[in-house]
Amino acid sequence: MWDSLWVDARLATMARNGAPYGAILNGAIAANDGRIAWVGAQADLPGAPESLAREVFSAGGAWITPGLVDCHTHLVFAGNRAREFELRLEGASYEELAKAGGGIASTVAATRMASESELIESASGRLRALMAQGVTSVEIKSGYGLDLEAELKMLRAARALANSYDVRVTTTFLGLHALPKEFAEDREAYVDLVCDVMIPAVASEGLADAVDAFCENIGFTGEETARLFDAARAYGLPVKLHAEQLSDQGGAALAAQHGALSADHLEWLDDEGVAAMANAGTVAVLLPGAFYVLRETRVPPVGKLRAAGVPIALASDCNPGTSPIASPLAILNMACTLFRLTPEEALAGMTRNGARALGLADEIGTLEAGKAADFVLWRIDDPAELAYWIGPDLMVERVFAGRRTLV
Ligand SMILES: [Zn+2]
Repeated sequence: MWDSLWVDARLATMARNGAPYGAILNGAIAANDGRIAWVGAQADLPGAPESLAREVFSAGGAWITPGLVDCHTHLVFAGNRAREFELRLEGASYEELAKAGGGIASTVAATRMASESELIESASGRLRALMAQGVTSVEIKSGYGLDLEAELKMLRAARALANSYDVRVTTTFLGLHALPKEFAEDREAYVDLVCDVMIPAVASEGLADAVDAFCENIGFTGEETARLFDAARAYGLPVKLHAEQLSDQGGAALAAQHGALSADHLEWLDDEGVAAMANAGTVAVLLPGAFYVLRETRVPPVGKLRAAGVPIALASDCNPGTSPIASPLAILNMACTLFRLTPEEALAGMTRNGARALGLADEIGTLEAGKAADFVLWRIDDPAELAYWIGPDLMVERVFAGRRTLV
């Protein structure tokens, strides 16, 4: 006997079965011990539904998709930058904002002051919003502490969220996010601190699943990033990179050479970067929310990524400065409207390819037997509606590890 079985469903499995969305109409899906025990056409069930599972639910014809995977967020931080947003719209220059203590420095100052429980509390509202739109797995980065204690505090807060909510959390150490002001005159000493002190500490506490950096002319150089990647490898930690967001630094190619899980943003990605990512199997994580908020005009080379067979993932990039967005469905819409992805590509970006960007392709991201039973029932007639609407409440039910959960 399975624990539970949903019948009368339309399944967008997002597995590669030859049909758009990996669809199975008149489908059924069973969960047992938190895993998908069976998925397929209802007519192929090996018996009468009531004889197969302790609980049988009718999906009433609802579409069921894999739980959404938000593979790039900065969900844990203190304060917000709404006043800065307002001042900018009133005409303040970046210089004036920086002088007034704005920008990332203000988030770092607030995050250093906050307790771990305050960080958990403020991130909870954003996390609940993601979950209310179908997210079952979320990646959370550090990077607003920029000293050992505050970075560890952020990562502990991210881990703690997974204990409080029905959601899978993976954590990423982003020590090379920005240069903290106390190291303004000695960037090498800060890179040393991150590589020689912070990575060993984070690794020994098991607080990070990956290591990331912001490789940019206003962030860290390729050389500094390569040093970080070598330090991460010494502790067996996978790497990923904020690359080619505002300029072409060759970051994606560097990440690919280091076997990175993903290179993220990629508006300025060149042909060499595309080829390197294709060779290495590095996922392209596109972040249309930051593109939208920054009013960027140069779009990532989607056609070239497609042609080269680079998997494309999407994420909210939820953060206080450039993407104060906690709506995965709005991100699907932005990816289609701004980057011209198809609705199917967009959904694959937040399911199958999002999972791959986290190194969890065998665990989540499609409706296939053996994977975690994380899925969502939607009140829609066509899977394209998930990328089409902005705003309506489309979620009927969210199932996490085989359990029906209320958000
Ligand atoms: Zn980011």
